[in-house]
Amino acid sequence: MKIEVDKNGYYGEFGGAFIPEILYKNVENLRNSYLKIMNSEKFKKQYDQLLRDYVGRPSPLYFAERLSEKYNTKVYLKREDLNHTGAHKINNTIGQILIAREMGKTRIIAETGAGQHGVATATVCALMNMKCIVYMGELDVARQHLNVEKMRMLGAEVVPVVSGNKTLKDATNEAIRDWCCNPKDTYYIIGSTIGPHPYPDMVARLQSVISEEIQKQLLEKEGRDYPDYLIACVGAGSNAAGTFYHYLNRPETKFIAAEAGGMGADTDKTAATLTVGSKGVIHGSRTMVMQDKDGQIIEPYSVSAGLDYPGIGPLHSYLAGIGRSQVFAITDDEALKAAFQLTRVEGIIPALESSHALAVLDKKKFNPNDVVVITLSGRGDKDMDTYLKYIDKF
Ligand SMILES: *Cc1c(COP(=O)(O)O)cnc(C)c1O
Repeated sequence: MKIEVDKNGYYGEFGGAFIPEILYKNVENLRNSYLKIMNSEKFKKQYDQLLRDYVGRPSPLYFAERLSEKYNTKVYLKREDLNHTGAHKINNTIGQILIAREMGKTRIIAETGAGQHGVATATVCALMNMKCIVYMGELDVARQHLNVEKMRMLGAEVVPVVSGNKTLKDATNEAIRDWCCNPKDTYYIIGSTIGPHPYPDMVARLQSVISEEIQKQLLEKEGRDYPDYLIACVGAGSNAAGTFYHYLNRPETKFIAAEAGGMGADTDKTAATLTVGSKGVIHGSRTMVMQDKDGQIIEPYSVSAGLDYPGIGPLHSYLAGIGRSQVFAITDDEALKAAFQLTRVEGIIPALESSHALAVLDKKKFNPNDVVVITLSGRGDKDMDTYLKYIDKF
């Protein structure tokens, strides 16, 4: 059976659009517009040009020789860390702001946890001269000071959210409330493959440039356009979705998803949704959710702010459910160890999120002839405070 989203936004039993009545029109409007816009020559031209000249794409596919030697297999790194603003998130925000502009919207809202999506959104709003409001939990505002200052410098208004736990989930609720009240001029840029249909499909398509480039680059370097394994970290799932996208129906390539184990998936300090979650609804779609027996969301934990989410995109719930992807819950310590190793072996300081994907090399044995592509979703500048705390340990 072909792996693809159906017209109602489902991958098998996961996905859909579970939204309050008041949002129905906004979501339907987007659902009716996104493919038409994305398939237009005008959009493709603008999107491709900005990805090339503004983001710096194609991002290199780097053969990591010393890492390959160490693990006795062929390891390539897809260098999303080299993108403008330092991660894959800009691929999505560039695409969505072009869609928003085409739909006649003038005001952009977004939610952010660690602030990475907020910065990527504020960046494209500056570029396109659009008003930008970013909702962020008050606790995260305090924890992610540098990103808050970047957003302000870029001209965005950062609204601290004081309800609930004052983190990402509460910021998302506030953004949805704003969207309800301002349906005419406002476009909501969601940062990952989550939310009601069409967001998961739209974001996966915008990030699919990652696998499109991997195909071309591998053909050049290996004489075949597919790897044996693709490895990516999953928070809500957008860099992994982009990495897997053009290989979804090519079973010769196996998928590995690295989620955040935190202190361990068997402890209550974890964000390993696929490992410990159960089926439920979160932020507009049916997917795996970390919840208690009454359906209350369990607060997630990870050393990495970008993976600290109690849900996961419906595509990944589906891929894991049918056995198309293999899932590893990587602990904080395993990710930190992998971060220090990459830094010292290859001279690349990775984002903490990406380090979860790198840590899979210590968990699974690959064959000497296997071609293993790991997506390096972002750079580690933002994580230096955390790394410095552990510098004597690794
Ligand atoms: C936000 C972020 C992630 C997690 O988001 P996904 O949607 O799961 O990709 C991973 N890596 C980096 C560098 C990030 O900034």
